[in-house]
Amino acid sequence: MKSKEFSALGTISIITAYGTKSTQATRAAVKRVQEIEHRMSAFTKSSDIVAINKQAGVKPQKIHRDTLAVLKRGLEFSKASNGAFDMTIRPLTALWGFGHKDNFVPEKQEIHKIMKLVDYKALILDEAASTAYLRHSGQAIDLGGIAKGYAADEVKRILLEYEITSALINLGGNIVTIGSKPDGSPWRIGIQNPLAERGEYVGRIETRDQTIVTSGSNERFFIRDGVRYHHILDPLTGYPVQNQLLSVTVICQNSMDADALTTALFVLGPEAGLPLLQSVEAEAIILTQNQGIFLTAGLKNSFKRSGSDEKT
Ligand code: ADP
Ligand code: MG
Repeated sequence: MKSKEFSALGTISIITAYGTKSTQATRAAVKRVQEIEHRMSAFTKSSDIVAINKQAGVKPQKIHRDTLAVLKRGLEFSKASNGAFDMTIRPLTALWGFGHKDNFVPEKQEIHKIMKLVDYKALILDEAASTAYLRHSGQAIDLGGIAKGYAADEVKRILLEYEITSALINLGGNIVTIGSKPDGSPWRIGIQNPLAERGEYVGRIETRDQTIVTSGSNERFFIRDGVRYHHILDPLTGYPVQNQLLSVTVICQNSMDADALTTALFVLGPEAGLPLLQSVEAEAIILTQNQGIFLTAGLKNSFKRSGSDEKT
């Protein structure tokens, strides 16, 4: 068994793998995550994303096929969510500056001006040439809502190459499980109560060979004048999504899909988001302000609510 904690993609990650080649496997997986970060970060100078952003309104930028794959899938979710998920959100996320600026609320006019730059339809991919092009100067991409999922899928792929049969991968909340626990029992994943201390769960999911991704408004947020400002933005308003949702957890086979879906569902809400979930056979747990728990039908057996004395 090998357990490795490391920081990448702006978060803390941990990979625990069982198998004779677990040490080499985790080493190769961490290297791969760093490579993905290097290509997709909006901050790393030499990344594909920085290069695309720099060439916005100028010319198509040649990119690695990793980046192309993420942008391509991301655009599919943008279309399917009618723009609720939009990777061209970067000018807005930069303006709000979650994690950088302290409890900052931009001027309404400024938001309205910047918002016009957010438009996934102006992101043009050329698969044959492996290029990406943002039509308008000032536009910029932010893969914060999807890249971790891609990286988690890649970790899984690499561990499988090393014949790992049991593993728990957690890339900053993007969880992927391989097989079951070494003793044959399912992995148990706690679903955080967003209003309680870290480690207090509203319930847990029993799972094998699945991905479980959670996006919460309690991760990066502040409250000003009674309004909760957090890091998932509604491209239609330019403001952090204002609805009753506290967290969205998506469970399916593909972590990149689950990642994009958590963000999209956060914006859309459970009703409008349901067809999106069904399109990739995903299940979801949505927690709301009034202590409500919305569960999709497929989770009735695998989700166990916390009893008063139950710990995961
Ligand atoms: P987390 O990163 O906390 O796991 P998410 O997967 O929901 O949560 O990603 C949130 C990040 O996605 C934000 O920090 C920002 O970089 C980006 N983002 C915010 N709003 C949107 C949106 N509407 N569409 C696409 N990406 C978004
Ligand atoms: Mg996401």
